[in-house]
Amino acid sequence: SDHRLSYPIRPDEMDWSDYFPAFFSKKRKFDDEDAVNDDEVEGIQNPSVAGVQMDTKKVEIADIGCGFGGLLISLAPTFPETLILGMEIRTQVTAYVHDRITALRNQCLSGGTKGEGEQEGLEEGESGESESVPGGYQNIGIIRANAMKFLPNFFEKHQLKKMFFCFPDPHFKARKHKARIISPTLIAEYAYILRPGGIIYTITDVENLHLWMAKHLEEHPMFERLTEEEQETDVCVKIMRTDTEEGKKVERNKGSKWVACFRRREDPV
Ligand code: SAM
Repeated sequence: SDHRLSYPIRPDEMDWSDYFPAFFSKKRKFDDEDAVNDDEVEGIQNPSVAGVQMDTKKVEIADIGCGFGGLLISLAPTFPETLILGMEIRTQVTAYVHDRITALRNQCLSGGTKGEGEQEGLEEGESGESESVPGGYQNIGIIRANAMKFLPNFFEKHQLKKMFFCFPDPHFKARKHKARIISPTLIAEYAYILRPGGIIYTITDVENLHLWMAKHLEEHPMFERLTEEEQETDVCVKIMRTDTEEGKKVERNKGSKWVACFRRREDPV
């Protein structure tokens, strides 16, 4: 439960090196005397990526309640220069996604560069090296967190350019609606961490939840809905329709998928 979750006091206290070791060196803990000569704090275990300036990037895309990580893995080569963070509350699911990302990174580092499960068709001696994956999956990370509680501890004002809410838990009963991840209070928080022009993507197979999310986002003064055309030409919409595990399940069961996307407006003068 929540009391076991660790989160930074404020965003600049966050040590991102565990999640994106190619982009962040370990934060030195000044209160830890032993750490001063510890190689780990110097970040030398980091896999260096050519041309990367350490400690300069920030997470800019968040997948809220990312589940088994399908969206992260598809977004990784689509936005190879952007750090993308999955947030998931379930411990075992988080561990699974962590292992999945590590395996993909290692596969890229060792020269086998095709995606998961795509190696089978290769003849002996073929490594698939010609199709390298942009970013080598170094740009995606997963953290165990309750995204309904601590987001402003992780992200500063205007930090994010995209937030995904893919097939969030529907909490069907009226008395449970307050547990929904899109609510007036939380929307205000999302507006704070999203930059002007940033986008909230929502998708669900539950029409009632779709109407709820769209209604609350439409009613919020800091958001405007994307037009049908904007929505349908956005590559992220295409990816989130097909590449999350929940989306695939809905596909198999021939269910409907409801999409609504909203742009964060400029701050009022
Ligand atoms: N987005 C994934 C997909 O489309 O395949 C997973 C969808 S699943 C129905 C909803 C996920 O949200 C679950 O993995 C659940 O553990 C996670 N979740 C629910 N509440 C959360 C919270 N407050 N913070 C982070 N994750 C949460």
